[in-house]
Amino acid sequence: MRSRRDPYRQAKYGLPVGFPAQRNGDHVETAELLEEIYRSVVSRNPGEAEFHQAVREVLDSLGPVLAKRPELTEQRVIERICEPERQIIFGVPWEDDEGTIHINRGFRVQFNSALGPYKGGLRFHPSVYLGTVKFLGFEQTFKNALTGLPIGGGKGGSDFNPRGRSEAEIMRFCQSFMLELSRDLGEYRDVPAGDIGVGGREIGYLFGMYKRITRQYESGVLTGKGLGWGGSVVRKEATGYGAVYFMREMLKERGEEIEGKTCIVSGSGNVAIYTVEKLQQLGARVVACSDSDGYVYDERGIDLELLKQVKERERARISVYADRRGGGARYLEDGNIWNVPCQLAFPSATQNELNGHDAESLVKGGCIAVAEGANMPSTPDAVQIFQEARIAFGLGKAANAGGVAVSALEMQQNARRDTWTFEYTEERLRQIMETIHRTCADTAETYGSPGNYVRGANMASFIRVADAMLALGLV
Ligand code: GLU
Repeated sequence: MRSRRDPYRQAKYGLPVGFPAQRNGDHVETAELLEEIYRSVVSRNPGEAEFHQAVREVLDSLGPVLAKRPELTEQRVIERICEPERQIIFGVPWEDDEGTIHINRGFRVQFNSALGPYKGGLRFHPSVYLGTVKFLGFEQTFKNALTGLPIGGGKGGSDFNPRGRSEAEIMRFCQSFMLELSRDLGEYRDVPAGDIGVGGREIGYLFGMYKRITRQYESGVLTGKGLGWGGSVVRKEATGYGAVYFMREMLKERGEEIEGKTCIVSGSGNVAIYTVEKLQQLGARVVACSDSDGYVYDERGIDLELLKQVKERERARISVYADRRGGGARYLEDGNIWNVPCQLAFPSATQNELNGHDAESLVKGGCIAVAEGANMPSTPDAVQIFQEARIAFGLGKAANAGGVAVSALEMQQNARRDTWTFEYTEERLRQIMETIHRTCADTAETYGSPGNYVRGANMASFIRVADAMLALGLV
């Protein structure tokens, strides 16, 4: 075993040396065990830095649970949870509009099915590799457990780059992808949805091909479907709305509210757009949003209709928003959105988009709370800075669980051949987010870390998955 005083680890993760149980001075054996499990995950999954990071964050939280529940160690539940149940990798050949042949790589990691069928999105982005999908599938397992709904964890995707591709090319790619993956899916087996690069259009092409291959209209095999053919109202809005509801609960604990606050929301995809929408409905002012090229600063507050026009309908870059908006809205190419002073921040673009320096800028700029709309957008040193500054920090697996929660509500509606109203569905989402917040806060308190949502979320979700695994036996 490598020394706990490993400078490589400290430099790479920016974390204090040793697991928290050890730093807190209790249960040295537990800290050593966690260290050993982490080392083994790193050596069994070489080169998958994001997966290591996600595992480490969860293990960092588990000391107090293991101390109370020795059977979890005896049954090697952590080691079992860190190993995906199944990993599927396949080639995706397709032909572009010029007749050139391309070959991409497709993935589906079926991580854990103790609580229900595998559930989680598909990501199409050139950066996707096995480590991305594994980290997302691991996170998804715990996120889905927090929703309290009967869904296991999985994730998939491809290194396909949809940017600049025609409708016909997107369709052919989705069809080829589904041709291979269809045999591993099913309403009771594995239910994908969208993620970065996969929205309603792609879900439509994927569903169409699945229907053709299986000769069945199996609505429950995908979520995020169109409203006219089996989709649920509020699914599109759910991740963004849910992040704002989670933020509202964190603020309530501190005697604060959303109304009147200045906010920044990174990204300008589905999550970001509906975060802005709910913030505006609740009386906040959102002054900045971004894409991978730069950010827009709009002192008067983002014009939501224009943002939707540019991003949802035209699929254009965020710079187009600034050009059209005029009146002082500025586009800062290569600018860092985290330098914009705000009270509330919603990182809603992608993993590791917010590092320690960015966290310091936010703290200096007067930020009091952060809710993660993306999966793992804050690096470990950023999280540590937020916690030291006593900023309310809602980690992604809790704060962004609204999306997958409404996916599970879509599955419920499909199973009953039913459709719910917007009001009823949004009310269910609000209740779920409030319950997740309560669960995280209470669990953190019970295990001696009041106010620490990271530890609360990790411990609560781990306990739920672990208990189901113990009940199901060694399978
Ligand atoms: N990709 C989303 C997430 O990260 C949603 C998954 C789903 O709806 O299944 O949670």
